[in-house]
Order: sequence, then structure tokens, then C-alpha cells
Amino acid sequence: MRPIRSMQIGPHKVPIVVGIKEVDTGNLGQCTTDPLPEIRLARLSSQWDYTTLLHESIHLISEFHDLGLPEAHVRTLDQALTLLLQTNPKFLVGLLQDQ
Ligand SMILES: [Zn+2]
Repeated sequence: MRPIRSMQIGPHKVPIVVGIKEVDTGNLGQCTTDPLPEIRLARLSSQWDYTTLLHESIHLISEFHDLGLPEAHVRTLDQALTLLLQTNPKFLVGLLQDQ
């Protein structure tokens, strides 16, 4: 699979920067909106990393929509949405076909 270089989140094309050191952040990923939206990942090579990408995307959605989701809610949503999509592949295919 080709690496994902950006995520379209609403009107924002958010670049993905891969290669931050986990020790620098204590996390596998982080995101910022200052000065521009950006997602930073330690790496992007496994399902775990895609879950991190989803996690950081939820943080940005929370920022863009002024939801103020706390970390625990973002974690719950990334796990729940991952499980929803993994256990309902026909649902995911249907969503993609509706575009
Ligand atoms: Zn987080």
C-alpha cells in the first residue's frame, strides 16, 4: 500500500509528516493546527499506525468543530470507529460507493 501523505478533513488538506521520534513526544503521533493543520506520526507501516492516524484525525476534527473532546473520548472514538469499520467491511464499502 502506498503511504498516505495527507488527509482531507473537511475543507482542510492536512499533510502527514512521518518520522518523528517517539521519545521526543512520548506518543506515536501528534497533531497541530498552528500555524497550519498537520499530523505527525512516528511511522506509518502497520494497522497500529493507521489507528494512530485515525486518532490524530479525530483530534483535528474536534479542533475544527470546536468540540473540545478530551483525550479519553478521542481514544474511545478511535477504538470504536476502528472496530466498527473492521467488523463491518460492507458498511465501509457502501460509504465509499456513496461518494
Ligand atoms: Zn490523543
